[in-house]
Formats: sequence, C-alpha cells, structure tokens
Amino acid sequence: MAYKFIDNYRERGARKKLVEHLKGRGIEDQKVLEAIAKVPRHFFFDETFWNQAYRDIAFPIGDGQTISQPYTVAYQSELLHVKRGDKVLEIGTGSGYQTCILLELGAEVYTIERQENLYQRTTQVLPYMGYKANFFLGDGSKGIAEHAPYDKIIVTAGAPFVPEIMLKQLKVGGIFVIPVGDEKSQKMVTIIRVGENDFDRIELDTFRFVPLVGDQAW
Ligand code: SAH
Repeated sequence: MAYKFIDNYRERGARKKLVEHLKGRGIEDQKVLEAIAKVPRHFFFDETFWNQAYRDIAFPIGDGQTISQPYTVAYQSELLHVKRGDKVLEIGTGSGYQTCILLELGAEVYTIERQENLYQRTTQVLPYMGYKANFFLGDGSKGIAEHAPYDKIIVTAGAPFVPEIMLKQLKVGGIFVIPVGDEKSQKMVTIIRVGENDFDRIELDTFRFVPLVGDQAW
C-alpha cells in the first residue's frame, strides 16, 4: 500500500463534516467529537481510497481486516468515559484508528493485536503520526494480566461471550465495553465493576464486528 501523510484543508473539511454527521447520529460527548475532528483517518488508507476515509463506513485495511466505522468508534469511545490519565486496555488494535482516538482523549493505552502484519504496521505508523501507545502482539481474549488492573477495557471485535478473565483485570469503578453475540450481529455490552465481586451489566445497540478469535473467544 502507498501511504502518504499529508493533511490538507480538503481532509480537514471532510473531518468536520463527519463530526457533524456523528452529532446527527446521536454522539454527544464533546471530547470524543474533538478527537474525531483531530485524528487524520485518511492516514490509514491507501491514497487511492482517500475519498472514502471520511465516510461513515467500515473499510478493508488488508489481511481480511477492517478499520471500524467512525460511528462505532465514537459510540464505544463515548461509553468508555475516558478521563485524562486513564489506563485503557484495547483488544484488537487493527488499523490503530481507535487507539489514536483513545490517546487523543488522554488515555494511557495498552493495545493488543493477534495479526503480526497489523501489529508491525501500527507500531510504525502511530509513532510516526506522533501517537505513543504500548503495543502487544498476541491473543487478547485473555486480556493482558501483566499490566492489569485497567480503568477501562474496550474490545473492538465481536465476542461469543464476556471473557471472565478480563473482568478480573478491571479496577473497581472501571468500565468494560465489549460487543457480544453470534457471527452475524452483536449487542454492545457495558459492564461496570461496582464492587470487588459486583458487576452492573447494560446491553445497548446492535453492531456487526469482525470476530474475536482466541482462547476465550471464537
Ligand atoms: N480498533 C480497530 C478495529 C479493528 S477490527 C480499528 O480502529 O481499526 C478488530 C481487530 O481485532 C482485527 O484486527 C483482528 O485481527 C483483531 N483481533 C481479533 N481477535 C483478536 C484477539 N483474540 N486478540 C487480539 N486481536 C484480535
């Protein structure tokens, strides 16, 4: 792929329009909207497809994987209520776009991807863009116990069930956002750890993610 890192008025304008569109779809969190307005999503696309970068659609990024739809990224980010300095675990780095949004929100990000080529790409592209995250290669369906506990955990692939092991890696008061369902559709599930052994669970809208594949997954 031919990547180019130039952010022109055309792309900045397209981002503003995307933000307006997301507001229209119900995204209200000002910080999330500001992050979307800032991150150059077209940097994750081959230049040939720059005209697709600010449409509200998921898009193939190679290796059979996709960059999540902007609405989905905004939706999950809003649910996480990221505060500056929050330690956030992201499962499914993929393109790294969601990672950049979390970083713009002031999070300290731990992100894991199971596909080596995607891992290689993000470990190069994100620092080049000025984004510093802690990258890991491997099966994230078990979380990352070594760096636990986390303030927030976000899973960006569709899971068949909530991996218990990840709940243990959440701080009390922490928020866990994960799409759960079958291969065709998943409900966005938010879990708040209200006490050591006490979890509140809310089911929200339906989405379609690529599958979470691993030990505690498909
Ligand atoms: N957050 C990404 C979305 C990528 S799609 C973005 O903004 O673009 C989901 C990603 O999850 C894919 O790259 C897939 O390879 C990865 N994935 C699936 N199962 C995984 C697992 N068990 N551990 C880590 N990554 C996983």
